[in-house]
Amino acid sequence: MLIPIQPETKFQCSACGSCCSHIRGIIPKVDAEFMKEYAFGKLPVVQLAPFEQMTFPLWDWEAKRFMQWQKEVNIDANIKPLRAIYDLKSNKAIILTYFMDSKTDACHFLKDNKCSIYHTKRAYVCRLFPFNRSPFIKTGIENVKEGMFGNCGAMEKIIPALPEGFSNMVRFLNEAFPDGSFLNAVQNDIVIEWANRTIIDLMRKKIIKPAINYPYNFLLKRIESSEKVDFTDFLVESGHLTLKEKEDLIRCFDNNAQAQEKVKQYL
Ligand code: SF4
Ligand code: SF4
Repeated sequence: MLIPIQPETKFQCSACGSCCSHIRGIIPKVDAEFMKEYAFGKLPVVQLAPFEQMTFPLWDWEAKRFMQWQKEVNIDANIKPLRAIYDLKSNKAIILTYFMDSKTDACHFLKDNKCSIYHTKRAYVCRLFPFNRSPFIKTGIENVKEGMFGNCGAMEKIIPALPEGFSNMVRFLNEAFPDGSFLNAVQNDIVIEWANRTIIDLMRKKIIKPAINYPYNFLLKRIESSEKVDFTDFLVESGHLTLKEKEDLIRCFDNNAQAQEKVKQYL
């Protein structure tokens, strides 16, 4: 069922560059509070950079591409590990996500207010903005609209037009964002859920034994000095996935295949 959308409530990015100029601390308040409490050693996934320094996360396969693209456009994007599991079984630091460290708060790829790698796939976080997350992810907040969007001037007329009722809202979002940002946000949330599920599965099958509840500084030093492996490479290395399964999975993520399936149920 189509939801009639007024032209002014269709999202149109004005390419103001604001979202790419402020990439530090772009996290909704509720997520920030949770992270400050648990992400510094109390959970299997450990935050490696101080909260104020972190920028948006890049999945490991996205970071690999960014490392290649930065060479092609002659930019040093200062890409560093952001979140890792310290595995007591293999004594390896399994890197789940990376980030671009930026002293200026702007993305290193932003030149003359334009993205130097716009022609590429970029990363989910680049493609999902003005969304912070989709309405599907469980945040524990009653009002699903809260924290769903980042700070974007082009959202002024869209937010008040969001219909009540979950199904109507999903249909509206699907039509109001012809740039694909809604589907990217849905798929990114599916990837987050996949990563969480996979970590639990690896623990349940005793493939990994994450270090939890160690003093944070001790854990950080161990991670810094240990051998590092990217999460999806570790899945292949440990026999959890074949190389082909890993490549198929990343292709499926890239194509937003699961997001399309999910949203289709509401149309
Ligand atoms: S998404 Fe919003 S903040 Fe980002 S460039 Fe477009 S209009 Fe500006
Ligand atoms: S890579 Fe491009 S789109 Fe992504 S944050 Fe940087 S400048 Fe913006």
